[in-house]
Amino acid sequence: MNDAILRAPPAENEPALAYAPGSPERASLESELGRMAAGGFEVPLVIGGRELRTGQTGAILRPDRLSAPLGLYYKAGPAEAQAAVEAALAAKREWAAIPWEERAAVFRRAASLIAGKYRAKLVAATMLGQSKTAREAEIDAICEVVDFLRLNPRFMERIYAEQPESLTGEWNRIAYRPLEGFVYAVTPFNFTAIAANLPTAPAMMGNVVVWKPASTSILSNYLLMKVYEEAGLPPGVINFVPGGGSAISGVALSRPELAGLHFTGSTSVFNSLWKEIAAKLSIYRSYPRLVGETGGKDFIFLDPSADPEVALVAALRGAYEYQGQKCSAASRLYVPKGLAPSFLEALAAAARQLPMGEVTDFRNFMGAVIDEASFDSIMPYLERARGSKSARILAGGAGDKGQGYFLEPSLIEALDPRFETMETELFGPVLTAYAYDESDMAAAYRLVDATSPYALTGSVIARDRRAILRGVEALREAAGNLYVNDKPTGAVVGRQPFGGMRASGTNDKAGSLVNLMRWTSPGAIKENFDPPTEWRYPYMGGD
Ligand code: NAD
Repeated sequence: MNDAILRAPPAENEPALAYAPGSPERASLESELGRMAAGGFEVPLVIGGRELRTGQTGAILRPDRLSAPLGLYYKAGPAEAQAAVEAALAAKREWAAIPWEERAAVFRRAASLIAGKYRAKLVAATMLGQSKTAREAEIDAICEVVDFLRLNPRFMERIYAEQPESLTGEWNRIAYRPLEGFVYAVTPFNFTAIAANLPTAPAMMGNVVVWKPASTSILSNYLLMKVYEEAGLPPGVINFVPGGGSAISGVALSRPELAGLHFTGSTSVFNSLWKEIAAKLSIYRSYPRLVGETGGKDFIFLDPSADPEVALVAALRGAYEYQGQKCSAASRLYVPKGLAPSFLEALAAAARQLPMGEVTDFRNFMGAVIDEASFDSIMPYLERARGSKSARILAGGAGDKGQGYFLEPSLIEALDPRFETMETELFGPVLTAYAYDESDMAAAYRLVDATSPYALTGSVIARDRRAILRGVEALREAAGNLYVNDKPTGAVVGRQPFGGMRASGTNDKAGSLVNLMRWTSPGAIKENFDPPTEWRYPYMGGD
């Protein structure tokens, strides 16, 4: 081993390719889509570096074309979950002993593979399996994944360099150890990037991981796993165990070695996992670190001084891109009464024009929602809005699940600021607007702050500098990520560290030093170069 104080190599955010007609990236993506859409995929579990096929399978569907399934995946049960924990623990000692820069290098290599040879494959898998347009898949499965893998080593370096002061005659050091045990990573369907970050962030910090992916993002997630292996990740460091959440959690959360939970998904599932851990607290060797990023009811607030064109684009992109299935998607909109009639009419007209359909047709702006459960859970809200005296539907409001799970981009005007779609996370392409009374701005800010239990993202749209200042100040506890004159989605690793408060999670800011700190257990060591040889203190001497 060389004696050297190493620095992580520089990293910049990965630029997004445009996929314009005639571009080389468009050609290679289209041929990859053609190959993958033919289907026939069979996704195994990966435990201790070995592929495993069980007796239980699930279908890998295309949400926007139900007649063309992509293949099947094998499901883990309790026995496989136990095997995954054992494989992780068996890999632990060696992985933790590898110098940090070697661990970082594995993931830097993975980033290069994803930005290069696997780019079209990962974009295509995310498009087909999760129904993302080419642009949405590119900024998620390539740019954000690569940014996590390239920038997290920079944050690691800063953490490890942080050392305490020492006086002459002593040397104080902090050893940054991985957590004692394994980390359980549970990932959502909606971002390939989150599926990449939740297992790899703890692994970079020297931990071993049992990873339960969502059953509706299996294809892209398995591809990530294969890339880590190709990049040199030793067997057992990350174990890929798709399957039923409660069966796998039942095992993972019952092990004394559970050292942490890295979760992103709904508030209700995180709450149930937290409660299960709390109920089993006495069995654990250490207090498990609980990191969870959860739901949102994200707002756009138009000040009376707002530029309506800026607000219109922020609302359209913020609410309807990826069918509103971003935790940060705008789902409530506050418009001053004086501006509301003209603004909402223009917004409804624009929403009606958004092209929706199969994501393989590059003219589309929107695809399908992820699955039947999601479609079926959103439709009743639209039906109730249609029948309610407290709301009216200005655009959309219908859906069709014949060919795929298509829900129209919908705009509801709520006449009651507490109408259910102003408060509840629907996780679909539904934006609810409320016209507030601009003669009492303090009351309007209080309404935004208090309407939902969440505090994830929000936008303030204003021209008047005093209004920007007032809005940012009044809404500072209403969002973990606040935007000014921009949509509330699209956080970039290293530039807008992401996470929310209240029912939106533990706010451990994915893509930042704050998150990585949760995956290390600092140990302080003091060495004395001049140890005392006399036990009596001077004050004890006689006169
Ligand atoms: P979900 O909660 O349904 O599922 C998340 C993961 O938990 C999946 O892997 C699922 O299989 C698993 N799961 C479900 N029940 C489980 C159980 N009993 N035990 C263990 N695991 C279980 O969420 P989703 O539908 O995949 O994602 C949408 C939700 O995620 C939305 O609420 C959204 O706001 C949230 N989200 C939040 C962020 C954020 O950063 N705050 C980011 C993305 C998504």
